[in-house]
This record gives sequence, C-alpha cells and structure tokens, in this order.
Amino acid sequence: MMNIMNAEKHYNTLSNYYQWKYGKKVYKIALNGGFTCPNIDGTVARGGCTFCSFMGSGDFAGNKHEPLIKQFEMQKIMMENKWQNGLYIAYFQANTNTHAPLSKLKTLFEEAITLNPKIVMLSIATRPDSLPEDVLDYLAELNTRVPVQIELGLQTIHQQTSDLINRAHDLKCFDDAVAKLRMRHIEVIVHIINGLHHETKTMMVDTIKHINTLDIQGIKIHMLHLMQKTKMGHDYVQNPWHLLTLEEYVDITVEQILWLRKDVIIHRLTGDAPSHMLIAPHWTKKKFVVINEIDKRLRMLNLYQGAYNEVS
Ligand code: SF4
Repeated sequence: MMNIMNAEKHYNTLSNYYQWKYGKKVYKIALNGGFTCPNIDGTVARGGCTFCSFMGSGDFAGNKHEPLIKQFEMQKIMMENKWQNGLYIAYFQANTNTHAPLSKLKTLFEEAITLNPKIVMLSIATRPDSLPEDVLDYLAELNTRVPVQIELGLQTIHQQTSDLINRAHDLKCFDDAVAKLRMRHIEVIVHIINGLHHETKTMMVDTIKHINTLDIQGIKIHMLHLMQKTKMGHDYVQNPWHLLTLEEYVDITVEQILWLRKDVIIHRLTGDAPSHMLIAPHWTKKKFVVINEIDKRLRMLNLYQGAYNEVS
C-alpha cells in the first residue's frame, strides 16, 4: 500500500485509504437483516455485552421490518445529500450478522450485493464465536465475487474486563477466528473499546500490541459511551465511576496509534451514540473535536502511526 499518511493526518484514515483505492468517496449503508445475537438469545450467554443497546450495537442501522432495498434507498438518499457520485459498502451492522442458518445468510448477502451496481464491498459485523466452517467457506467463495470484510468485536484482550462486560468469549476464540478468516483471504477489522471499567492506559495499549501480532487490516477504536437501556448505563446511574475525560482519551488513543502497525487502516477513532440515548460522557458527541485533538497532538509530537512499534 502506498503511504496515505500526510502532514495533516499522521495515521491511515479510512477516507484517505478509499480515495487511494477507489479514487472516490466510499460510504457504508447500514442494513438490518433482523439478526439476533448469541450473547443475548442464550446460544452462548444471556443479557449481552453490558454496554450493548437494545439495537444490538447497530444504533444507526436500517429498520429490520423494511426490505433491504428500501433500507438501502432511504440511506442512499441521505448520503447523496452530503456527497454525490460515491460508491457504497453494504454493511450488516446490528447484532451478530452471521448468527443464522447458512441458507438465510446466503439469501440476505446475495441480495445485498445486488442492491446497486455501485456497491463495491460487503461488510459484516459479527462475533468471533459465530463463524462456523460452512459460513466461512461460503464467505470465502463470496469474497471471490465481491470483497467481503468482517468486522470482529474484541473490545479488550484482558479476560477480567471481558468477563466484567459479559463478552462471553475469550481471546483465543478471537485469535482463532482471525486466523480462519485470513486463511480464506477475508479482510478483518477489529473493534476495541477504550475506557472500560478498571482498565489502565497500559492495558489499553497492550490490547493494541496484541492486535499488532495478528493479520488484521483495520481497526475501529471506540470511546466507551454509556447509553440508556443498557446494563452498564443502568449500573453507572446507580453508582457512577470515573469515565475517561477527553484529555485522557486523546492521550491514550495517541499512544495506541503510535504503537499500531503502520499497515493497519484506522476506520474509527471515537464512539458514536444517538444523542437522545447517551448518558455519558457528553464530550463524545463532539466527534470533530475529538479527532482534531488527536490530530493536533500527533502533529505536535511530529510522530506518525507505528512510530513506537518500529523502534521496539
Ligand atoms: S456481541 Fe455485539 S450485538 Fe451481541 S451483545 Fe455484544 S455488542 Fe451486542
């Protein structure tokens, strides 16, 4: 990959990457296939991750009761108000989008890739414990027709935190899932959360150091935001604890970027909750401020993504 970092952005931004790869703006259309989650429905556990909203972490996804084409067209119109002449990624975001019989997955995914000729990729968010061999093999075949990207939740490498937030899978399960996807040449994007209860800066940086050892292509770094109708939000209202300040988040995230391998694309650097559902912290609503502060810090340090990784 050519160097897409520049004097303004000292890390690989997704928009620069797509501009380099496709020569155009590429945006995701979040589709809702009406999936559930094995961590909610009792397949592996009940209750779900304690931060997860009743929308299954797809708070901006389409309406599952609408046909995919209608969901797609409605969001496309909104996107086209902002950018014309872009390309699209069909994105199954809410809940666990491989948690269904293979026949249902085939029906949905085959429909999704034909919703519009300008769809250049299929992106599927799922859990590492929801990728059985038959699904993996189908995704590998699909990946030969249209690029398939799997967004895989990890959140943290630390088992005690993972237990606390009820992830209901361990690190080995995640590492194995990455290996199986990469054996099939499927792109992997990892999700992590900064600011989980009791995690120190060192622990969060260690999550990045572990990710560096895996063959992943992208990362989404989220700030923990507490939402209404979640277990964690409820616990916080009953008994608040210290949440990261903007300054602390910037300090930790900049350190993570400096450790992150140079080839990894950063898809996201903040959290994203619908305003009316957010309990705290309120600074997460100002996404531009968060990104600006991170950019400013990196420019001040005059360091680029991967700088610490290279000298270690
Ligand atoms: S795995 Fe995803 S959808 Fe399921 S409970 Fe956790 S965050 Fe929500």
